[in-house]
Amino acid sequence: MNKKSICLSFMVLLAYSHLQAQDYPQNYFSSPLDTPLTLVGTFGEIRDDHFHSGIDLGTQELEGVPVMSAADGYISRIKIAPDGFGKALYITHPNGYVTVYGHLQKFTQVVNEYVRKAQYEQQKFAIELFPKPKEFRVKKAEVIAYSGSSGSATGPHLHFEIRHEETEEPINPLLFGIPVHDNVPPEIKYIRFFPTPEAGIVDKTDTAETFEIQVVDGINIVNTPDFIQAFGMVSIGFSAVDHQEYSTANLGIYSAELFIDQNPVYQWRMDRFNFDDTRYVNAHIDYLSKKRDNITIERFFRLPGNHLPIYGDSTQLGYQNWTEDAPHDIRIVVKDFNGNTSLIEFQVISYSSMFDRPYQARIPGAVLVTNQKGIAIHKNDLDVIIPSGAVYEDFYFFDSQRKSNNYLSQLYTIGDPYVAIQNPVTIGIKPSATIADSLKSKAVIVNVREDGSPNALLSAWNGAFLSAKTRSFGDFAVLLDTIPPQLVKEYVPADLNSSRGPVIQVKVSDDLSGLKSYSGTLDEKWILFEYDAKNRLLQADLSAVDTNHEHTARINVMDNCGNTTVWEYKFWF
Ligand SMILES: [Zn+2]
Repeated sequence: MNKKSICLSFMVLLAYSHLQAQDYPQNYFSSPLDTPLTLVGTFGEIRDDHFHSGIDLGTQELEGVPVMSAADGYISRIKIAPDGFGKALYITHPNGYVTVYGHLQKFTQVVNEYVRKAQYEQQKFAIELFPKPKEFRVKKAEVIAYSGSSGSATGPHLHFEIRHEETEEPINPLLFGIPVHDNVPPEIKYIRFFPTPEAGIVDKTDTAETFEIQVVDGINIVNTPDFIQAFGMVSIGFSAVDHQEYSTANLGIYSAELFIDQNPVYQWRMDRFNFDDTRYVNAHIDYLSKKRDNITIERFFRLPGNHLPIYGDSTQLGYQNWTEDAPHDIRIVVKDFNGNTSLIEFQVISYSSMFDRPYQARIPGAVLVTNQKGIAIHKNDLDVIIPSGAVYEDFYFFDSQRKSNNYLSQLYTIGDPYVAIQNPVTIGIKPSATIADSLKSKAVIVNVREDGSPNALLSAWNGAFLSAKTRSFGDFAVLLDTIPPQLVKEYVPADLNSSRGPVIQVKVSDDLSGLKSYSGTLDEKWILFEYDAKNRLLQADLSAVDTNHEHTARINVMDNCGNTTVWEYKFWF
């Protein structure tokens, strides 16, 4: 390492560590739960199309656990949605931070009544309210709600966030000294080598290669009979999970560092991010490994279209250029927030003689798309517009089409389903069958999944073309959705098994375009039906209804193609 690079890496370390835990108020926020904290999700954990913006705290698989305000403040926002955080509460604190509590079962009685009043006024279940600072003041450790599994939670837990009030950036709550006991180190599961297309080779091919990690006598080793060989432009990624003693969850790691020949090459820490950047998770990881192999590989190199600012130094891109016959020492260090560390060290040999190996042939007719430069393709029956910033790296776009009797158009293969999309791509398809004017509003473009099932996109006519925006490449075609949503009684209080209490529950399903809206009445008056999207369940609470006579419940639903169903049910209660 020469003097200049020593100096440079020292500056990198300085820049990288400019915001440490001590820059955030310590012991200002207390734990939102009155039990030792079990992590079932970590800050910055990799999820589908986003980074996890808080920590998920276990509630022993129970709902109704009291949730306490982490500090003095006031309830500044209440949001209720059929998915996402479900029932969520936001508390603004005088020190410039906002805490968020998600997937709640219910709020305190006074807040429940406030919300219910607004829902009846707006005749809507999904609402967002912004109470004034004086309306709901709360004290540190005051019970503000009860935990649940509302919204998209797959099981009971509390989602807890700390956001910067002004930037609205979520920050790792553990930086504020929220106490979590953890002495289990992360586990490195795989490493992956990426040859840069037409500039690098790994183990005699230009295809990326994943190696499993084995633990032998407590030491991580790469499971390969030979040395890994690489030459030219190559880069590295890894897969790791973290664990906590009392949690069975696979957690995300906090930081990762790559050293090559003892030099720090690339690193990041999950301290904070901006919601505008959260989709760059698909550039941070190797999208192909996740979609095809179900393995989350995090990259130690930055794709041209990845604008996440979490990486130590913006000048470090992580690509290696090995042009000499030489061994290289690789060291990967992975940590959880508590500093529990896992590392792997191994050698890669670079051989110049590998370089005469031919590169794979490209698909004939494929067109180069870069992060900077999109393309517009106009054919007789197909339009594809890929805007700039749509893809993260160079990609050879191709499309093909084949006849199919299952659709009202040909079946089009558009791009590569393993290439991630940031900015939506517009697709226009001209149906091959004639669609009567009366049925035009029922037409949708569908993304045909690998198993053949259709996923409808919000579609609109543009002349003779049906058009939709997509954030994934793959197979597309046109279908009609003429079948209205279905409503099926799940439970009414007159049912023999009356253990569910005074509620009506109705299952709703739609075959294609999806539920757009619904509205329910009881005895001809609007009644609040809560909608749980993950269970496709509509539920109304009847505890305030006068009893001992016959009631009529009615629900109207509409799908995204305008097909409607009215469900009506008479029952004694
Ligand atoms: Zn969460």
